[in-house]
Amino acid sequence: MKPFGYVRATSLQEAAAAYARRPGSRYLGGGTNLVDLMKHDVETPGTLIDLTRLPLHEVEEQPAGALRVGALVPNSDLAAHPLVRSRYPALSQALLAGASGQLRNVATTGGNLLQRTRCPYFQDVSKPCNKREPGTGCGARDGVHRDHAVLGHSEQCIATHPSDMAVALAALDAEIELYGGEQGTRRVAATEFHRLPGEEPERDTVIRPGEIITAVVLPPASTGAVSRYRKARDRASYAFALASVAAVLELDDGRVRHVSLAFGGLAHRPWRATTAEERLIGAEPTDDAVRGAVEAELARARPLRDNAFKVGLARRLACDVLGDLVRAAGERPPVPRTS
Ligand SMILES: Cc1cc2nc3c(=O)[nH]c(=O)nc-3n(C[C@H](O)[C@H](O)[C@H](O)COP(=O)(O)OP(=O)(O)OC[C@H]3O[C@@H](n4cnc5c(N)ncnc54)[C@H](O)[C@@H]3O)c2cc1C
Ligand code: SF4
Repeated sequence: MKPFGYVRATSLQEAAAAYARRPGSRYLGGGTNLVDLMKHDVETPGTLIDLTRLPLHEVEEQPAGALRVGALVPNSDLAAHPLVRSRYPALSQALLAGASGQLRNVATTGGNLLQRTRCPYFQDVSKPCNKREPGTGCGARDGVHRDHAVLGHSEQCIATHPSDMAVALAALDAEIELYGGEQGTRRVAATEFHRLPGEEPERDTVIRPGEIITAVVLPPASTGAVSRYRKARDRASYAFALASVAAVLELDDGRVRHVSLAFGGLAHRPWRATTAEERLIGAEPTDDAVRGAVEAELARARPLRDNAFKVGLARRLACDVLGDLVRAAGERPPVPRTS
C-alpha cells in the first residue's frame, strides 16, 4: 500500500474544506471497499478524509412519512430498522443479501453506493482496464466476462455495478442527498445517480469531485404497496449478484396501479425496467402479462460470448418476484381513494 495522509473531519464543512485543499483525496466510510483497493494499489489517494465522526448516523422519519437515512448508518442497522422492515422490505432484503454480517456492521450507506465494480481486471493493476486507467483497453471484453453486463454496456466497459442496496433504492424511487461545500446541497434520483459507461467508464456516478453523500431519502411508502428483493448468485451467501430484482407493486381493483422494477447484476448501474413498467401499468397482472412485460424489457439485452444465461436468469427472477407480489398485493385490503 502506498503511504497516505489522514484527516479526521468533525463537520461537513471541515471535510469539504479538507478535500478542497487536497484534491484527489478520498472520503473514508467503513473502508471495506476503499482500503481493499488501496492494498492492491487500485486506489492511491494522497489523503483519506475520515467521515465517521460526522453526525450522519441517524434514520429519521420526516413529517410527511418519508425516511431520511444518514450516510453513515451501517448496512446492518438499516436492514434491521423497524420502519425499513415494515415499509420498505425490499430494501431490508437487499441489504441482508449483501456481503456478510461482519461487513454489514461496518459498511455505510454512502460507501455502499460508491463501492467499485468487482470486475477482476479493474482490481488487478497489471491488466488493461479503461475504468481504472482510461485508454488502456478493456481486458474483460475478450477475456473473462461471465459476470459482466448484458444491458447498457459500451465498447469501453462491460462492468456491472455491485451494490444490492442501490437496486432496491432505484425501485423505491429514493433520492441521494449530496453536500458540495460552497456549492451547497443537491438531491439526485437514485435511478440517475449511477451512470452507464459510455465513453467515460471511469465515472461510475454523477457525483462531483469533493461532494459528500449526506443521506438517502426514501419517499413515503403507500400502505397498499408490497415490495421484494431477490438475488441469484453462485453461492448462498458472500457472493455478488449474477442477477437480482427489486420490485414494488400496488393493485387497484385487480389492475396495476403502481409498479416499479429494477434489475441488479445486469448493467453498469441498477437497471430500472421502464419498458416493463409501462406495459404493466393499468393492466391485469396475469402470468402472461407479466412475462410479456419482462420479455419486452429484456429484449434490449446484448449478451456477450459467455453471459447470455443472465438474461434467462433475470427473466425467471422478475417473473417469480412479480408473481409473488401480485398474490401478496391481492391479499391486502384496498387502499382508500383520496379523491
Ligand atoms: C468480501 C466482500 C463481499 C461483499 N459482498 C457484497 C454483496 O454481495 N453485495 C453488496 O452490495 N456489497 C457487497 N460488498 C461490498 C460492501 O457492501 C461494500 O464494501 C460496502 O458497502 C462499502 O461501504 P463502506 O462504508 O465500507 O465504503 P468505503 O470503503 O469507506 O468507501 C467506498 C467508496 O465510497 C466513498 N465514500 C464513502 N462514504 C462516502 C460519503 N459519505 N460521501 C462520499 N464518498 C464516500 C469512498 O471514498 C470510497 O470511494 C462486499 C464486500 C466484501 C469485502
Ligand atoms: S469491464 Fe470495465 S472495469 Fe472491467 S476491464 Fe473492462 S473497462 Fe475495466
